[in-house]
Amino acid sequence: MSPEEFRAAAHEVVDWMADYLRDIRDYPVLANVEPGALIDALPAQGPEHGEPMSSILDDFKKLIVPGVTHWNHPRFFAYFSITASGPGILGEMLASTMNVQHMLWKAGPAATELEQTTLNWLRQWLRLPEEYFGIIHDTASTASMHAILAARELASPETRLSGEHPPLILYESEHAHSSIDKGALALGIGRDNLRHIAADSEFRMIPAKLESAIEADIAAGKKPFCVVATLGTTSVTSADPLLQILAIARRHNLWVHVDAAYGGPAALLEENRALFAGIDQADSLVLNPHKWLFTPVDLSILYTRRPEIMRRSLALEQIPAYLQVAQHDRAMNYSDYSVNLGRRFRSLKLWFVLRYYGRKGIVRVLREHMRLAKLLASWIEADSRFELSAPVPFSLVCFRFKGSDDDNRALYDRINASGKAFVSSTILHGKYVLRLAIGNIATTEEDIRLTWDLIRASV
Ligand code: PLP
Repeated sequence: MSPEEFRAAAHEVVDWMADYLRDIRDYPVLANVEPGALIDALPAQGPEHGEPMSSILDDFKKLIVPGVTHWNHPRFFAYFSITASGPGILGEMLASTMNVQHMLWKAGPAATELEQTTLNWLRQWLRLPEEYFGIIHDTASTASMHAILAARELASPETRLSGEHPPLILYESEHAHSSIDKGALALGIGRDNLRHIAADSEFRMIPAKLESAIEADIAAGKKPFCVVATLGTTSVTSADPLLQILAIARRHNLWVHVDAAYGGPAALLEENRALFAGIDQADSLVLNPHKWLFTPVDLSILYTRRPEIMRRSLALEQIPAYLQVAQHDRAMNYSDYSVNLGRRFRSLKLWFVLRYYGRKGIVRVLREHMRLAKLLASWIEADSRFELSAPVPFSLVCFRFKGSDDDNRALYDRINASGKAFVSSTILHGKYVLRLAIGNIATTEEDIRLTWDLIRASV
């Protein structure tokens, strides 16, 4: 592709992007397609000869877009609502244009140092201590797996050499995200060695149950090594009592990993400090700017106060010759701290977002999302046909129609079939519950009002 052909196509693409962002409310949020539709619409074999960009773009509009569920829609309220913001998209475009792969400082000095700088800015905004080291991963799942690996390294350093370990036990609440189990499974911890600690009526881990589980395991000759506290659980956004968990963990020498993949950004708000008390004492913490910090997928941050253990957990016997570099105090080689060698220039989009909105701009939007969630909760409480199913500490509202689970399932289907909004569901205290997560930067009170009208009309 010649630079001139690229320029012409890029202008066309950017025009489409700007129109898309402007007109996004005109798209049905949830793709209305049958499984296999796109596979059937596309040729079974790839093209022998290259095709003009114009036909590729035509097919993108005609075939791909109708099969898209629009995560960037302001009324996408399912799972966790996310945003590819303007500045974030621009950063992503530039990152792919330069195609930097900064496995080593030398391979990407600017990418490496921008990662250090942006994570340091965010660390200060979150009021985490200076010794916290940050690294960007693709997802929270990968980040948490690295945290569990470091915890294993601390508890059982011989495992790295022999592959063998005592029965190491990991603790998490019954509401912890499945990525914790998967990370532990990938590391050979074994499913029987994962303890899902019961939660209280507000879905928070019960510290006394944690302590008795640890004591029972020790008495049985096992080795507790890690506890994961979640600040913003996936189903309900409950926050585990971190200070109490930390105190128990310290008594038994456990690594404390905090999963704040969704909730983390809310620590920027002064009024949320109590919910996050203790994050400065955790051994590691994950938060996802690609969830609630207006950064396009993917970008997850892992902070740890023990980077030397994380690095040691992946120490090789022999570094391949092509990766051997002269050590320099200020030259960080991030791949020393992760399973993956290659690294995308993800910090560029984060830098664009942090600079474009600034801390105050970000705080304003997060605060508005929390206000909208409380507003919706108040409307739900005021309508005798509905009930709130959980407290609303962040920007997620869990609620149900006061009827059977089948009534609520039918309600879910009708709302989502409308194309006007997309909500998800969960099971709480054995009941089917609807979840409406607010987190898109373009979502307004009008969007929430319209969706509430839609919900009521769909009963
Ligand atoms: N942790 C929590 C609390 C989550 O809610 C999620 C996903 O929603 C994850 C971890 C996994 O995130 P990722 O998709 O970045 O792996």
